[in-house]
Amino acid sequence: MNDTSETDFIKFLGTAGARIVVSKQLRASGGMWYSLDGYNVLVDPGPGCLVRCISSRPKMDPMKLDAIILTHRHLDHAADVNVMIEAMTEGGFKKRGVLFTPEDALTEDPVVFKYVRNYISRIEITKEGGRYKLSDTVTFETPLKHHHPSETYGINFFTSKYTISLIVDTRFFPELLRHYKGDVLIVNVVRYTVDKDMKTWLYHLSIRDVKEIVMALKPKVTILNHFGMTMIKAQPRVVAEQLSKETGLKIIAAGDGMKFNLISVS
Ligand SMILES: [Zn+2]
Ligand SMILES: [Zn+2]
Repeated sequence: MNDTSETDFIKFLGTAGARIVVSKQLRASGGMWYSLDGYNVLVDPGPGCLVRCISSRPKMDPMKLDAIILTHRHLDHAADVNVMIEAMTEGGFKKRGVLFTPEDALTEDPVVFKYVRNYISRIEITKEGGRYKLSDTVTFETPLKHHHPSETYGINFFTSKYTISLIVDTRFFPELLRHYKGDVLIVNVVRYTVDKDMKTWLYHLSIRDVKEIVMALKPKVTILNHFGMTMIKAQPRVVAEQLSKETGLKIIAAGDGMKFNLISVS
């Protein structure tokens, strides 16, 4: 058995969130690679995803990918989707793989080029409340539409052993607390603090929001990810330690290149 079928893991190909941290590459922005029961799925291939895959040690071979999921069409989540589709299909010569995406990434001003869509086996449109089969043992759902400027869905992955929840970009709203009950919770936290006047236009979570979420959901492990400038300045690792102390829960910060072995969750 190779490494991907032996151990379930999540590899963080980048932990940058929002425009400044991505533009300056203060953190990498390649998204996340999940290996679940031997099924390999890439979520949100932002700028530099392909480079991050190839330069990882050991290398993450895009031809081993079975699917790509876009949570939404923003550049920090989708900039490398076309090149990753090409890499997943051996340059477009081997028709394989599935793309899951909200419809607005395919329609007006599409982020997925029409010509690469022929390379893959099929495209499935994600919708609120949708449930999708990845393999005989792995499924995922997109439980609700997030409050974010484009059509955006978080994810719950279900495997024979674990549920993994991913709360991507969104403004806080109470329904989040009803839908992301995974053993592992990955949460995009762009802001460290939020000024009062920002509440009207900010479509991202802050640490205060994350505290409310983890206190309600009590995941076995929470992984903070997708950091904006205020989080970088506050040092995600320090923030995660502080939040762990305050809540009594296991909370860690993702780092570029971090491989989280799911076997540690039981
Ligand atoms: Zn984002
Ligand atoms: Zn976004």
